[in-house]
Amino acid sequence: MPATLVPGSYILAGLCFILALAGLSKHETAKRGNLFGMIGMGLALVFAILGTVLKTVSGGVPITTGGPSWAIIAILVAMVIGAGVGVFMAVRVEMTGMPQLIALLHSFVGLTAVLVGWNAYLEVPDPGAPGMGLHNGELFIGVFIGAVTFTGSIIAYLKLSAKMSSKPLMLPHHNIINLAALVVIIGLTVWFVLDPHLWQLIVMTIVSLALGLHLVASIGGGDMPVVVSMLNSYSGWAADAAGFTLDNNLLIITGALVGSSGAYLSFIMCKAMNRSFISVIAGGFGSDGAVTGEEKDYGEYHETNAADVASMLKNASSVVITPGYGMAVAQAQNAVADLTAKLRAKGVEVRFGIHPVAGRLPGHMNVLLAEAKVPYDIVLEMDEINDDFANTDVVLVIGANDTVNPAAMDDPSSPIAGMPVLEVWNANTVVVFKRSMNTGYAGVQNPLFFKDNTLMLFGDAKERVEDIIKAL
Ligand code: NDP
Repeated sequence: MPATLVPGSYILAGLCFILALAGLSKHETAKRGNLFGMIGMGLALVFAILGTVLKTVSGGVPITTGGPSWAIIAILVAMVIGAGVGVFMAVRVEMTGMPQLIALLHSFVGLTAVLVGWNAYLEVPDPGAPGMGLHNGELFIGVFIGAVTFTGSIIAYLKLSAKMSSKPLMLPHHNIINLAALVVIIGLTVWFVLDPHLWQLIVMTIVSLALGLHLVASIGGGDMPVVVSMLNSYSGWAADAAGFTLDNNLLIITGALVGSSGAYLSFIMCKAMNRSFISVIAGGFGSDGAVTGEEKDYGEYHETNAADVASMLKNASSVVITPGYGMAVAQAQNAVADLTAKLRAKGVEVRFGIHPVAGRLPGHMNVLLAEAKVPYDIVLEMDEINDDFANTDVVLVIGANDTVNPAAMDDPSSPIAGMPVLEVWNANTVVVFKRSMNTGYAGVQNPLFFKDNTLMLFGDAKERVEDIIKAL
């Protein structure tokens, strides 16, 4: 087998990953992007294992005398089990469960980086030998990033799957705690490079695990989208560090691609949400985590029914639909698409207003609407639609809450203060589809529900939209 085959396949796999990222940037090319990613990963898996086999053989330790060695059998068994579990989870997961699944997968990358780093330390007979400084530094940093990613992602998983409150944990002096942990880790890194001992690795791993846990627990629900993409970036850097430790170029390339694209996505999301990038990566640095509005009396809300909404829509000339996470939960996208088609056939102008963090994934609403075949040209971004609400007859808020909350603009003490929102209340009438008066993901009460021009339509969003279609 030519010696250039493995490095050549790595270049090919790297190119596939770049094409995957490029494809995923647009709806139209996203499927192709996914396909490139799958081909790249397939190549990477096959040739990484082949590369290890070749290396072992050329290193003078034949691993195939009298059949495959236990190491290869163990790798294949682990792959079959891993692939089986992966396929099982992917088939079962609902679209609304994707964010927590992604967070869980990030935690695996973090854990792997920790194990690779520990193994790299333990397998060396004399880590303190001259010339080992770079190796020690590499593995120490790899374990640090991996440990932060591991526990941070577990907390993100718990928060996203509602197994833990989405409210920020605000320990007294939380910024000082984070800073102290960072100082300890930097000090230990320098010490470990100069004079490595097992206890330094143990202490640093424990501090890093605690830091990851604390950083993500301190972030409020409204900022979770940034945290998810930030952990995605961390998982890339963790893989990158493992690549250096294992001396695997493809892992270095892939880790850098994931790390940098995730960091850029986090930056874009911070800009869209008017959040400080530094504040979010530093675990809510500069925020006091106050959750307000809970006790305030906002007055009465007004309830409506499907028949009244249907007649209101019949008489409207312009309608804007602002979907949110509840549309995904109710799987109401096809019913919403049918309603849109019916209204458009009656000459009503219907458009969609999409908030950048609506739902639980970047682009969540766009994917659902595309799946239901809503034409792209009537689906507008928040900035494109916000000025038009004042000239809109009816806004249908379908399962959205935080993304249409005026407290973000009016209440400087609100945890979502400063986040740009869809200014639906400027329309003539707003109809809110939800099941109860419960808060949204950020856990903040929404004054929109109590405004004079807002009507609450309670119940499952899909059922209520179908009732309206019937009444039309
Ligand atoms: P929210 O999570 O704020 O609110 C969703 C609303 O949908 C709830 O108030 C709920 O009310 C309602 N709902 C749930 N199920 C149904 C149903 N079957 N039928 C009708 N209504 C239903 O949604 P938004 O999309 O407005 O905001 C997204 C939030 O998620 C933001 O805080 C964002 O920061 C966060 N986030 C976003 C991520 C992203 O990348 N997009 C990632 C992580 C977090 P009720 O229970 O009364 O029905």
